[in-house]
Amino acid sequence: MRGGIPHVVIVGGGFGGLATAKALGKTPAHITLIDRSNHHLFQPLLYQVATSALTPGQIGSPIRNILRKQSNTTVILGEVSGLDIEKKCVFVNGADRSGVPVSYDFLVLATGVTHSYFGHDEFAAHAPGLKTLADAVAIRNKILQAFEQAEAEENPSHHRDLLTFVLVGAGPTGVEMAGAIAVLIRNSLKSEFRRIDPTAARIVLLDMAPRVLGTFSEELSAAARRRLENLGVEVRLGHAVDQIDADGVLVGGERISSKTVIWTAGVAPSPVGKWLGVATDRAGRVRIHPDLSVPDHPEIFVIGDTASLDQDGRPLPGVAQVAIQQGRYTGKLIHRRIGRQPAPPPFRYFDKGNMAVVGKGFAVLQSRGFQTSGFVAWLAWAGVHLQFLAQSSLRVSVFVQWGWTYLTGQRGSRLIVNHHGSDPIKPGSESSSVLSTASK
Ligand SMILES: Cc1cc2nc3c(=O)[nH]c(=O)nc-3n(C[C@H](O)[C@H](O)[C@H](O)COP(=O)(O)OP(=O)(O)OC[C@H]3O[C@@H](n4cnc5c(N)ncnc54)[C@H](O)[C@@H]3O)c2cc1C
Repeated sequence: MRGGIPHVVIVGGGFGGLATAKALGKTPAHITLIDRSNHHLFQPLLYQVATSALTPGQIGSPIRNILRKQSNTTVILGEVSGLDIEKKCVFVNGADRSGVPVSYDFLVLATGVTHSYFGHDEFAAHAPGLKTLADAVAIRNKILQAFEQAEAEENPSHHRDLLTFVLVGAGPTGVEMAGAIAVLIRNSLKSEFRRIDPTAARIVLLDMAPRVLGTFSEELSAAARRRLENLGVEVRLGHAVDQIDADGVLVGGERISSKTVIWTAGVAPSPVGKWLGVATDRAGRVRIHPDLSVPDHPEIFVIGDTASLDQDGRPLPGVAQVAIQQGRYTGKLIHRRIGRQPAPPPFRYFDKGNMAVVGKGFAVLQSRGFQTSGFVAWLAWAGVHLQFLAQSSLRVSVFVQWGWTYLTGQRGSRLIVNHHGSDPIKPGSESSSVLSTASK
């Protein structure tokens, strides 16, 4: 309590944390939202930054700007490193101080996930994942730099691995990235190079699963695969990747030489389960009650990607809608508890459907028994994504950019930035450090 007013601490300003904070906007409480990044990020469009369609500023907004009208809410830039469940406080590392205790009456943990290389952490150095804006810009640098280096490289035998792009993981992110790289090449890069033919670039999408977009129906999955193949993407399924190194990928006994491998496969939850010392599922996500609280701690809530909750016998998926709806629910529940009102009924996720975009003007959509693919699905995808951007200025900016790119093929940003700190890719050597250096 601060001056007799309850203190709600929210860790994470992603989809779940931000929705909680907004739902508490009129609650008679002090709200503190702590995030290690100063911005809320619209992750579903990260692949568009990585493929030059949008700029970083079009999919991220400063959290304190989004919450500027909420006078009961303080935003702190800091990284939570752990908590003391008995003393009811979290420990925060800031720019100049470490382990600063911040006490709470209610705690909401919405810290999301990070990449998982399924026990092969050595892949990380050669196959970056896509989770933050820094990741997206680093991948953009790497893709654009590969074309620049191929244009400058006199020896044509070095072009092949420079211009081979491998994506590991054929879920929505891998499929969307593969389609977007194909469109970038066809619509924007095709006519700009003189010594290389960008359309000769190879895009390979790998997965051990038997089909792309495994969470979609078989028909939509097949439609997405056909569309990718029409765009020139090689789809290779049914084999796990055995090795990733500076020279490419080993899959199903075959080596694919490539200087640009991107990891779009697994994710692992944040260490919230370890901080709390409570039961987790096999993936490490915290098992929560139907009111989203942690067993034996009705004052602590875990929501979004880092939480595990079953509904109708199946675990809820790690998608933005689950995090948003859980954030709103948690805010409402805390508001009612503070106002000594009856608690709302247990949380229930309302599944509005799944969408994935595959190249220009084509998406697959399934929603509550209805499914479609093609241009209409793409329009629906565009409308929904615009609606969920955090601020109206971003909606206008992205809408205009998409329209312009659709008509002209011109991209949001094709700049290679931070490259003065990176080594160029050296064909045939252990040199794929462009990304790792750029992303530091
Ligand atoms: C590339 C990509 C594409 C995606 N596409 C889609 C899509 O098309 N549709 C869809 O529904 N979902 C999509 N998702 C998933 C969706 O983004 C997540 O389900 C959603 O972001 C989960 O929300 P969250 O609040 O749990 O976590 P996040 O939104 O990830 O937020 C977590 C926040 O916590 C902060 N944080 C983490 N640890 C700490 C700490 N220790 N201290 C302080 N702050 C911390 C982070 O900085 C971040 O701001 C995609 C995800 C990715 C990565």
